[in-house]
Amino acid sequence: MKKLRTTLLALSLVSVIAGCSAPQSPQPQPQAKTEPTPKLTQPAQPAPTTQAPTTSTTPAPASKPATTTTTKGQVVANPMEIAVLVNKSFMLPDGFRPSDLVEPNIPFIFTEKDERRLMRKEAATALEQLVAGAKKDGIFLAGVSGFRSYETQASLFNYYVKTQGEETARKYSAEPGHSEHQTGLAMDISGSTGKCAADDCFADTPEANWLAKHAVEYGFIIRYPKGKEQITGYAYEPWHLRYVGKKIAQEITAKGITLEEYYGMHG
Ligand SMILES: [Zn+2]
Repeated sequence: MKKLRTTLLALSLVSVIAGCSAPQSPQPQPQAKTEPTPKLTQPAQPAPTTQAPTTSTTPAPASKPATTTTTKGQVVANPMEIAVLVNKSFMLPDGFRPSDLVEPNIPFIFTEKDERRLMRKEAATALEQLVAGAKKDGIFLAGVSGFRSYETQASLFNYYVKTQGEETARKYSAEPGHSEHQTGLAMDISGSTGKCAADDCFADTPEANWLAKHAVEYGFIIRYPKGKEQITGYAYEPWHLRYVGKKIAQEITAKGITLEEYYGMHG
């Protein structure tokens, strides 16, 4: 039973777009429309922490996150920080799992009781408020995919490597430890019908437009904005919300920057 369930879970999650999953899609369908643009993936490049941002035109309001360099790459020192930076260069410690995961009281587009419903407590509370706020404006939102464990990400990534080859796997799926979903601070959101969930056609829907305008009021940012692919390493994902807290969300949104740029990194 467990094996069957694991298989089903893997099959339901195989369409992994830039670290997100589209559980409604039964088959991996890497297509041009979801293909991330060239990105900063190779750990062989100098790590961002070694770059000097002193001449940057965008003032860096925060010091760079503390990391430890390991054979696997840059491991963040404080994975429980609300503003933790996790991307293709920065990874979470081995097997990291947040200690305060809860299920936000919001609708989801699936019925299973699994880890995808979970977020860290502070983020979950903020998400409940966001979904309630949207409802007042006549916008009905639902959760698509929240927390994803190291193990789930590893099996997804390995599945992709096996079926699509390593190069494609790296394009469409985050390596374990590098998915923002593992922080417990990210949630993919769609309309309550689940139409276009974690898909490019979600862009410019009333739900996406509402999120782009109002997510900041609840402490969330659109983590992978349009036109910032070279910096974030991911294609535009209007559905991927990342909780950073109101203060940082306001600063990032007002300046039109990414979390990388907030930390003085420019890809
Ligand atoms: Zn996502």
